[in-house]
Amino acid sequence: MANENPPLQDIAIVWFKRDLRFTDHEPLYYAQKQNLPILLIYCFEPIVMEYADSDVRHWRFVYQSLQDMQSKLEDLNAKIYVFHNHIPLVFQRLSEKYNIKKIYSNQEIGNKLTYDRDLVVQKFCSDQQIDWLEYQHNGVIRRLKSRKNWEQRWTQKMEEHPKIVNETQLNLMTLDDAFYQDLKGPELSIQFTSNEPAFQPGGETNAWKYMQSFLKERYVNYSKHISKPQLSRKGCSRLSPYLAYGNISMRMVYQYTVQHYKTAKNKRALSNFVSRLQWHCHFMQKFEDECRMEFENVNRAYDSMVKTKNDNYISAWQSGTTGVPIVDACMRCLHKTGYINFRMRALVVSFVVFNLWQDWRDVKYILAKLFLDYEPGIHYPQLQMQSGVTGVNTIRIYNPIKNAQEHDEEGIFIKTWIPELKNVPTPLLFEPWKMTNIEQEMYQVFIGKDYPAPIVDIEVSRKAASDIVWSFQKTKAVAEEGDRILQKHVNNPSRPRNS
Ligand SMILES: Cc1cc2nc3c(=O)[nH]c(=O)nc-3n(C[C@H](O)[C@H](O)[C@H](O)COP(=O)(O)OP(=O)(O)OC[C@H]3O[C@@H](n4cnc5c(N)ncnc54)[C@H](O)[C@@H]3O)c2cc1C
Repeated sequence: MANENPPLQDIAIVWFKRDLRFTDHEPLYYAQKQNLPILLIYCFEPIVMEYADSDVRHWRFVYQSLQDMQSKLEDLNAKIYVFHNHIPLVFQRLSEKYNIKKIYSNQEIGNKLTYDRDLVVQKFCSDQQIDWLEYQHNGVIRRLKSRKNWEQRWTQKMEEHPKIVNETQLNLMTLDDAFYQDLKGPELSIQFTSNEPAFQPGGETNAWKYMQSFLKERYVNYSKHISKPQLSRKGCSRLSPYLAYGNISMRMVYQYTVQHYKTAKNKRALSNFVSRLQWHCHFMQKFEDECRMEFENVNRAYDSMVKTKNDNYISAWQSGTTGVPIVDACMRCLHKTGYINFRMRALVVSFVVFNLWQDWRDVKYILAKLFLDYEPGIHYPQLQMQSGVTGVNTIRIYNPIKNAQEHDEEGIFIKTWIPELKNVPTPLLFEPWKMTNIEQEMYQVFIGKDYPAPIVDIEVSRKAASDIVWSFQKTKAVAEEGDRILQKHVNNPSRPRNS
């Protein structure tokens, strides 16, 4: 009789993506409900890591998040099998060794590259008769037909029972070591695995620390400090990278906040915070529904607005050497810490797309790489909104001098990030080019030598941009596309919009 190979072992896989946590994790929760042994995997995918929006800071955060999860599995003698390889290959090889019955994962609202990768995985699963079960990502609904009642559906989702798993009861399986070593791929280089203390550290444990400290005390000044580049660093929740990499679910943040609301000293601050949690999913929903936003103006009528790329302008903006202190401080701070608050993000975008008259597409990846919390579903719709190419939002050209005066009154943020200006007193600090020669001598900073003169005239460039964008805003083509956008992306198209 011919030698028959023994049947392959039936298994289920939980594939972690941008959901690096154990608490309230639907794929794990449902995987645990069936009888198959579960293999936990994460894959550092070379093509994703090499994509133009990606930066070491993101993968360091992912690495830290995985370390945190591994530490919880250590006592169980179990682990997440981490690969640094192409995911279709990983699945292919696993399917040669095991009979994969099911793959559990969360839906990913990612860039075009990860969308295409998911199509490849989907085809593989259908060819191999593997059930790929994908669960809803926070409040973002896949294949949404209409935005009607979206807010109610969001609240319903947030109020559902969290899906809690007990890690100690998971039926986890181990891989044969030789097989794993062979498939694992190269070790991550040290830049991904070393610590960078100026950045928020990744991981579920840290996510909860940030949330607890916010709801215990930091939230009190939330609304007061939200626009301030320095004070927002403490007064805002700083949950964004933890939400972006799924170290905490939106539902847990929502429910924890609602719990605190009853006894909160400042209820208004918490209501404002909860609106932002909904915005998070609202923007991601827009992107999910119209993902061409990564590449194209959401309002096609702006395609005829011509902007000529100026590499010198972009490079000065990127390196924080435009000569406009608040803009430069923000950009330098982003390089070193990966975070600035919402208003400052809007301001640096306004400066580059209006004052420097550059196309948002020429700066989209620069910012994506700099934001530790880079979330494609928020990034592209926000970037387009701030760039004035939606036709349905108020056009805001931020005045960098006025904003610095109002939100960095004492110039602490500017002086922290632009040490060249440390001796310059306010109000000169906000417009250092106005210093006389004697003042430059006195404060030991020479404009054009130690710190640049502004690369454009702020008022002249604002006026030029404003004339063009407002002339567009009034055209029939913009309005028609605007109607389409409102119908598609908002619940009540007649309501005035700021999101
Ligand atoms: C051009 C531009 C790009 C942006 N790109 C991103 C991005 O890639 N990832 C990202 O998380 N946020 C992005 N934002 C939104 C916002 O700036 C950050 O979410 C916020 O600053 C994060 O700080 P926080 O966690 O302390 O926020 P908090 O004020 O404490 O808010 C709590 C959470 O609500 C969500 N949130 C807050 N503000 C907004 C907003 N305006 N739109 C959507 N969601 C919001 C975030 O998840 C945030 O963590 C962008 C804004 C602009 C103007």
